[in-house]
Amino acid sequence: MNSIEGGSEGRFWHRLPDGRIQCDLCPRFCKLQENQRGLCFVRVRRDDRIVLTIYGRSSGFCVDPIEKKPLNHFLPGTPVLSFGTAGCNLTCRFCQNWDISKAREFDRLTDQASPEAIAQAAIDSGCRSVAFTYNDPVVFVEYAIDVAQACRAAGLKTVAVSAGYMCEAPREEFYRHIDAANIDLKGFTEGFYKQLCTGSLGPVLDTLEYLNHETRVWLEITTLLIPGENDSLAEIEALSAWILDHLGPAVPLHFTAFHPDWKMLDRGPTPAATPKAARRVARGLGLRHVYTGNIYDESTQSTYCHVCNSRLIGRDWYDITSWTLNGNACCKNCGTPCAGVFDGQPGNRGRRRRPLLVTPGGAGL
Ligand code: SF4
Repeated sequence: MNSIEGGSEGRFWHRLPDGRIQCDLCPRFCKLQENQRGLCFVRVRRDDRIVLTIYGRSSGFCVDPIEKKPLNHFLPGTPVLSFGTAGCNLTCRFCQNWDISKAREFDRLTDQASPEAIAQAAIDSGCRSVAFTYNDPVVFVEYAIDVAQACRAAGLKTVAVSAGYMCEAPREEFYRHIDAANIDLKGFTEGFYKQLCTGSLGPVLDTLEYLNHETRVWLEITTLLIPGENDSLAEIEALSAWILDHLGPAVPLHFTAFHPDWKMLDRGPTPAATPKAARRVARGLGLRHVYTGNIYDESTQSTYCHVCNSRLIGRDWYDITSWTLNGNACCKNCGTPCAGVFDGQPGNRGRRRRPLLVTPGGAGL
């Protein structure tokens, strides 16, 4: 990455005949005059090129359980070093991380960290992986790729938590360096994406199909259920049927509960009954691993064998309470393989969450 004053040189753009520069990183295709910022705010045209203004800076680091991403079939029970930067390329009115994604004041980005320092901090804190999360790695993709490369060189896995709103070329390059992803499928109508996120559904579905069919990235999907917006059983059925038809039955799906936030304060939180009902619909159609999130319910947050229905991984919030997989990730009762990335026994991270200061040499407290 070429460092330049106020950031690092960004990629994925081209010049238009009218003199503007078009960013080709996400389907917004922002067309920029000199000193103009893209909608994500962290990419700016400066000195006739695109600059990523937040390269090497983070809004903070935390050691989380991997289940918090959420990933239930990727190295269960292990700790992951999570971090984010600032900015986002969607404008979701219900954003649950708006203080980071909508940040306009970069003094939030107090932690400076090179890719190598992040990898070292992950090792020092006992993590198996590093996650790009809190805000969407699409907008800081050059930094994320450099961090991912440093992590893999250090023997760590890499995780992306994203809305999947990304163009084809950068998507291909980014996910070459990623081991697991949780992609938000925020709703299942173009109207939802247009009215609440000023985006569109099609590119997100393209990303899901790309990851599932053309990469080795372990994929899970999250849908935040918002009362009155995307929680009708008809929409949940359509979303689940699309996953079944286009991705197959083994991709885990998480239905999580909304709480009022950012610009959507006009309604209450999602009742616990809604994600449970959604789970019943999705499982009834044939999806094998469907979970509820942001509510307390051990039975719908545990993993079951899709053949004999044995409880394979019991979960109490983020704690692993039982483990009925053999060393080959097969059901101990009937021998059926469980889809995912498993490593013998589960980790014992538990539900604890620990903020971390990353120093030039690695982790500090
Ligand atoms: S990544 Fe940012 S600058 Fe580029 S097109 Fe998307 S919103 Fe615009």
